[in-house]
Amino acid sequence: MTKIQEEVKKYLDERSWNHLAPANLAKSIMIEGAELLELFQWDNYTVEQIKEKPELEEKIKKEIADVMIYCTELAVHLNLDIEEIILYKLKLASEKYKAAEVMKHKGEKTEDSFYLKKKMEYRAEKKS
Ligand SMILES: [Mg+2]
Repeated sequence: MTKIQEEVKKYLDERSWNHLAPANLAKSIMIEGAELLELFQWDNYTVEQIKEKPELEEKIKKEIADVMIYCTELAVHLNLDIEEIILYKLKLASEKYKAAEVMKHKGEKTEDSFYLKKKMEYRAEKKS
């Protein structure tokens, strides 16, 4: 269990909030994700624009944390190691989008269709 998971578990245990249904946590992840998305509802801020707006950056930080805390809670409830599952999924993504292949298509007009093609191939094979 990672340090973050230990801290989240402690937070939950201290409040007796360690019995939530996995479905409720999954819903909460999406609700917090929507709160993050809401910050971009009418603006397509660039990184530079966000950095020029400390209040906006603070709101983004808090919503990122909310999403990640609920993800961590779900992992704690299911006794999953977040570092292990992230590294595993990253390995799968690295195999799916091989760096050399991605870089070969970088900057091409067809770059998006390359990603879409790869995604559809994997979905058809039900790999992820
Ligand atoms: Mg929130």
